[in-house]
Parts: sequence; C-alpha cells; structure tokens
Amino acid sequence: MHQDPDWPIRVAAFDALQRRVHQYGEVLPWELIDEGFSYQGETLHFANRARGIFWPRLMRETALSIKTTVPRQGREARYDDLHSDEGFLYKFQGTDVAGRDNRRLVRAMELDAPLIYFYGIEPGAYRPIWPVYISEVDPAALSFTVVSAAPEARVREPGRFAADPKMLNLERRYATVQVKKRLHQVAFRQHVLRAYEQRCAVCRFPRTELLDAAHILPDRDVRGRPEVPNGLSLCKLHHGAFDADLLGIRPDGIIEIAQSLLDEHDGPTLEHGLKGFAGKPLGMLPGAKALRPRGDYLEERYERFRKAG
Ligand SMILES: [Zn+2]
Repeated sequence: MHQDPDWPIRVAAFDALQRRVHQYGEVLPWELIDEGFSYQGETLHFANRARGIFWPRLMRETALSIKTTVPRQGREARYDDLHSDEGFLYKFQGTDVAGRDNRRLVRAMELDAPLIYFYGIEPGAYRPIWPVYISEVDPAALSFTVVSAAPEARVREPGRFAADPKMLNLERRYATVQVKKRLHQVAFRQHVLRAYEQRCAVCRFPRTELLDAAHILPDRDVRGRPEVPNGLSLCKLHHGAFDADLLGIRPDGIIEIAQSLLDEHDGPTLEHGLKGFAGKPLGMLPGAKALRPRGDYLEERYERFRKAG
C-alpha cells in the first residue's frame, strides 16, 4: 500500500476545518474558508476562489480540496445531483485526465487519500464535506466520482489498516447517501430562511438560531421537494404548532389556531404567542412571488389541519 506524502497537511486542514465548523456552523461563508489554516508556522489555504481543484504548494502529489459553486440560474441542477444514491460527479478541469489539476485527483484516488469537498449552497457560501474520496475516473465523461465516508474515517490514515474493500465500499455508499440527505436539508433551510429574510413567517421573530425551514408537504411525500415554495420559515414555537396541527395556514395566507387552544387560558405564550395570531395574515412572505408558498400545497396542508381539529 502506498503512503500518502501529503497526510500531515491534510490532518492539519481537517482539524482546522472541524474547529471552524464547530464555531460557525456547517455552512461557511467564503471569507472564513479563505482565511486558511496554519501548518508548521505557515498559513496555507483550504481552497482557491478561482479554481475547482486545489492544493497548497507544500503538497507534493495530491490535492487538498475540490469545490463547486452554485449555478447562477437556480437550484434545479444541484438538487438533481443530490437525487441519485451514487457518488457526486465532479467535472474534469479541462479535458485532459493528465492535466495539471486532474492528475492530482487521479493520484488521490490511487492513494485513497481523503479530500475536502466545498459544496456550494448559495453564492459565496459552502458546506465543507470531509473526508471524501475519488472512487472513479471516467475520461470519456470527463468526470470523477466522489464519495463520502463517515466522519470517524477522518482520522484513518490510508495504508495503516487493511480495510476489506467490499466493506469499505458499502460504508462509503451509505455515508454518501447520508451526506446527500443532510445537504438537502442544509440547502433547503438556507434558501427558505433567506427568502423570508431570516424571520418567522407567522410572528416575524428574527433570530436565525431559533428558526427552522418547515415543509408544507412533508418530505416523505414525493411532491414534498426541498424547494422554497414548499417551505415556510418558522420559529421553533410556530414550527412545532404547525406540525402538531395546532396552527393552520389557509391557502389565502390567513392563520388559524386550533379550537382546543382557543378554548384554553394561560400565560402570555399561549395568549399572545399563539391565540394572538388567529385570523391574522402571515407576517412575512418572500418578496418574489415565485418563492412564496404554493397555493395547492397550502390547501392540502390546511385540509389536514382542519380534519385534525
Ligand atoms: Zn414565530
């Protein structure tokens, strides 16, 4: 088994990234990624704004990271990428598999060296995924296949243990599916909260930490795709009430509160936080019509609320 000559730099990068995600959350603005990390007293970069495949100059054979940005025209393409259970397809830089950049990924595949994938969630914001591995190279399609591994694989140095390749494949396949699911949720939340300017659609509460992206049609529904018109930005209280059918939203955007709550009397959370919104219109909607909740989805969901009552 080959040894990865770039392993120490990789470990330093993973550690630094772990700390950054712990501090700032799982979606990082480019500015935070661009600060780089420190290695033997030097500052090295994680990635480069202009390049997809990146390695700091101290890396001898492989790459450190790959990066994709969000296509300007919308999110369809990216969601399609997430729908398959296979790995992520990553396009060659240019057309030559032996080109300067592609060669580094081919080498990473040969060494089974773990990389970081900066996955574009929206312009200027990335979710770092690591470790990822290059599992295949397809010169005809000009693409690599990128798979993920469980986070605990971060500390496994290639060549230091004899993994059963079949088990490893299964493990990575499973991890890739999990990562894609999580990416779906992360992207959905990011897009919904942005559309509602980081406020609750019911009460306009503005703290991002206490906001969720609620599904109108549940995500187990085939139509319940994680797209903004199937979402509502809701604070924890109103999300909980919405999911429990204690708060309903009519297709015309008027809020209803379940009779059982209306009949109860209690402190300010119930009186103001819930009952106070009965009969009022939603407090916050996206400016762009195309991002507002779909009427037919609201109608179907409202039926459920009505039946529950
Ligand atoms: Zn609220």
